[in-house]
Amino acid sequence: MNANLKNCPQCGRLFSPGSRNICNRCLEKEEEEYMTVRRYVRDHPGASIFEASEETGVEEEKIMQFIRDGRLVTRGFKGVLQCEGCGKPINNGRFCDDCINERNNAIYGAARQPKPQPEPDRKPPSVGKRSERMHVRD
Ligand SMILES: [Zn+2]
Ligand SMILES: [Zn+2]
Repeated sequence: MNANLKNCPQCGRLFSPGSRNICNRCLEKEEEEYMTVRRYVRDHPGASIFEASEETGVEEEKIMQFIRDGRLVTRGFKGVLQCEGCGKPINNGRFCDDCINERNNAIYGAARQPKPQPEPDRKPPSVGKRSERMHVRD
């Protein structure tokens, strides 16, 4: 007998948990759903989660999960996720770049890096005004 058997939270069947928390059957199903959504997003860049869910029959929550897991990294879905740190809309993962940086800084503690300053706005010297006098270099 195996004391490590667990009930699959999705279908309730007993299984021995491996790297994932659901049984193989559900894992396979999830994999299929993932591929379906992936294909849909590839063919329909810019689709919303809602549309993808409607078209593929995969639950929105599932699609969100794929994105959260970083499996569905796509420019297709815009701003559907919120940073868990500051609530800013993000495209994938759980945190926005700012919060990731902050967390990294917290981890590395004392070696806190100053925030990189944005490049100063270096516009090319304006030319082409009609009144402007032209000159040539000697
Ligand atoms: Zn299952
Ligand atoms: Zn954030």
